[in-house]
Amino acid sequence: MKNILQDLSREELTALVLSLGEKRYRADQLFVGLMQGRRISELPIPYPLKARLLETYEDEPVSVREEFVSADGTKKFLFELADGSLIEGVLMKYKYGNTQCVSTQVGCRMGCKFCASTLGGKIRDLTAGEILCQITAVNRREGGTLKERAVTNAVLMGSGEPFDNYQNVVKFLRNLSAEGGIGISSRNVSLSTCGLVPEMKRFAKEGIPLTLTVSLHAVSDAERRRTMPIANRYSISEILEACAEYFEETGRRYIFEYALIEGENADMVHAEALAALLKGRPCHVNLIRLNPVKERDLDGTDERTAQEFLRALTERGISATLRRSMGSDIGGACGQLRARYLKEYGG
Ligand code: SAH
Repeated sequence: MKNILQDLSREELTALVLSLGEKRYRADQLFVGLMQGRRISELPIPYPLKARLLETYEDEPVSVREEFVSADGTKKFLFELADGSLIEGVLMKYKYGNTQCVSTQVGCRMGCKFCASTLGGKIRDLTAGEILCQITAVNRREGGTLKERAVTNAVLMGSGEPFDNYQNVVKFLRNLSAEGGIGISSRNVSLSTCGLVPEMKRFAKEGIPLTLTVSLHAVSDAERRRTMPIANRYSISEILEACAEYFEETGRRYIFEYALIEGENADMVHAEALAALLKGRPCHVNLIRLNPVKERDLDGTDERTAQEFLRALTERGISATLRRSMGSDIGGACGQLRARYLKEYGG
């Protein structure tokens, strides 16, 4: 695989262009063109410069291989990377804008029992540009421009653990919000982690005020270890402490993801324990009924149980919502599309 030009920041692009003996304004043309989701070969720059760039850099690091449209308007994309790897992404349409869910790794090595992304382990990290190109490709495909964006929000909730690919993810976040580019502000971004405590603490110091989201899914360390191997490394109380640090640094309320799993974490005692754990903290709880994954022996609760769980939290003063599961007819749960695709077509 060649290098990825979209990995570079605007300043790095400028340095590259100058080192090739070109005028500075060429860097601006490159930056804008790439942010518009164009291939290098499509950029409005002279042929010799194009040819030089194409010797070293991938023309199109991320291309859409398949698109699935759900009855609720959610779109799911299967992307192909330059080395043939497949990743997936989702575009969810809400009243306030369109949110794209991006992947940060090919596969995942965190091993959560309920998640399809981790079934084959981690293949490799994505580069900053490969994460960005998922968004610029979809924005373009959906008719968006840099002024009138078709993608207004981003969530790092596709396959992969963002904090297991720390440097590339941080670089991506800076390029995503950079002036003159696609300009998605960190305030419109959520980063979801299974709770890598050292990286959470490090991230608090980066000066990137996004919505930090932690996949909790259990109320005690012992129960959490049953579904999330990372719970053997970090305790819930360490996670809560790291969240508090993030709030102190950024003033941003944080979110806990809690997937309701039948017979595992969804009883009234769990709701009460969760409320006690989070009481008085500047946080919000996103409940979701687990999307059953065929390869796993776990199921989501019914709607009524989920509503009761939600009520138990709100009655105890915890800010919480039950998320609609969007696009379940097109392979809603994490990694399902890629997993199915690999099985049916062998990649
Ligand atoms: N690795 C990160 C981000 C990717 S997963 C993390 O763990 O947070 C994004 C979210 O989807 C996480 O909250 C994850 O726990 C959740 N998730 C994974 N599989 C799911 C399933 N089958 N049903 C519902 N949510 C699921």
